[in-house]
Amino acid sequence: FRMAVRSAAVSVTPLLTKLHNDSATPLPLLRHVADAMAADMRAGLAVEGGSDLKMILSYVDSLPSGNEEGLFYALDLGGTNFRVLRVQLGGKQERVIATEFDQVSIPKELMFGTSEQLFDFIAAGLAKFAQKEGNKFHLPTGTKREIGFTFSFPVKQTSIDSGILIKWTKGFSVSGTAGKDVVACLNEAMERQGLDMRVSALVNDTVGTLAGARYWDDDVMVAVILGTGTNACYVERADAIPKLQGQVSSSGKTIINTEWGAFSDGLPLTEFDREMDAASINPGEQIFEKTISGMYLGEIVRRVLVKMAEADALFGESVPEKLSTPFVLRTPDICAMQQDISDDLQDVGSILYNVAGVESNLSARKIVVDVCDTIVKRGGRLAGAGIVGILQKMEEDSKDLIFGKRTVVAMDGGLYENYPQYRRYLQEAVTELLGTEISKNVVIEHSKDGSGIGAALLAAANSQYT
Ligand code: ADP
Repeated sequence: FRMAVRSAAVSVTPLLTKLHNDSATPLPLLRHVADAMAADMRAGLAVEGGSDLKMILSYVDSLPSGNEEGLFYALDLGGTNFRVLRVQLGGKQERVIATEFDQVSIPKELMFGTSEQLFDFIAAGLAKFAQKEGNKFHLPTGTKREIGFTFSFPVKQTSIDSGILIKWTKGFSVSGTAGKDVVACLNEAMERQGLDMRVSALVNDTVGTLAGARYWDDDVMVAVILGTGTNACYVERADAIPKLQGQVSSSGKTIINTEWGAFSDGLPLTEFDREMDAASINPGEQIFEKTISGMYLGEIVRRVLVKMAEADALFGESVPEKLSTPFVLRTPDICAMQQDISDDLQDVGSILYNVAGVESNLSARKIVVDVCDTIVKRGGRLAGAGIVGILQKMEEDSKDLIFGKRTVVAMDGGLYENYPQYRRYLQEAVTELLGTEISKNVVIEHSKDGSGIGAALLAAANSQYT
């Protein structure tokens, strides 16, 4: 028996060693990734289509200052739920006087219906929510309720309050919206509902997160989402954006939505990444996202384990059938396995059994944890290098003293929030790249659910009444 266990462990070693090598992120590689991120950002700012990174203009030129006052609404559509929120703002002293929110799940059939049906449903939900407005909320007479609309699908923004839907993603297949202004779609639906509200800001969720965090802290310059997918945005100087072609922003600054998930230069990819990409609905696209975000980390680990099961009989004679199902192993599962500190890795064993139908001995469990750690370490460190790339670009091109003063990077998303090892690897990479002195000035901090309030704040900052 001991012999069998030992030989299983030894025979797996070459695969594990290869995985370590192929996905290693030593400092020079991280440097290259940060430099390439900065270069791609510049190329995307120079001309439309100049780089993998779209570097989308958000038309958000004025960030919340803290002085905002009054009643504002936010509407967030980004997946299978939509959220509505209202906030009563009381300026510098009183800040957020009251908030209320509600969440409505979108019936499956509406994801495959017509544009009118979907927007009518949303407008009806909003109308119902607006009716329940309590006496903590006050609207000045003669004004309309204003909305910040967070819409997390690819949009070609044309002004702060309009944008054309490029395509639906995340399982939505609604007819008649692509090519249309989504704000107009919502306005028309609100009219049909007899709801007298106005969208004053259309925002991407990353931009909402930056605005929400900036409200509390003037040093916030960058926002990063690490959830199912990933994206980042930052404050750029208008004069560092050649493709703006003279369109000026009143503040001289504007937020750029990088769409950094499309980055791909110099990433340490393995055969498992290539196979997962080839089998995906968007092969060749979103390679950074596929390496660092929550939708994919568990799936990469699963593919490694399948190979180890086949080549090295990691889990015995045959490959368990369940383990062969794409995406059965999710990122929360690998996260839970990594939290197991028991000697016999009991939790690892039961997760493997419950989720993937796998029976494992201790040495197999140790290997599984090592695989999880390897993939998560790569993801966290590359995300950290991406953040340094953005900061580097700001420091080099924008004459902004980024590294010489306190600069805050606001983080949100379920992956960042829930995965302690990922967070630690990300921070370690940032510290390694910047050195201990400079990295003291770079504060990477979680900004929970700032994006909803952020959208309402952007509605306030762009109100037609101020
Ligand atoms: P979304 O990105 O889908 O809008 P979230 O920001 O809440 O929503 O992120 C959800 C993602 O976060 C999940 O798809 C998963 O990858 C990751 N996640 C959620 N919970 C955990 C967890 N406990 N451990 C690790 N990752 C998690």
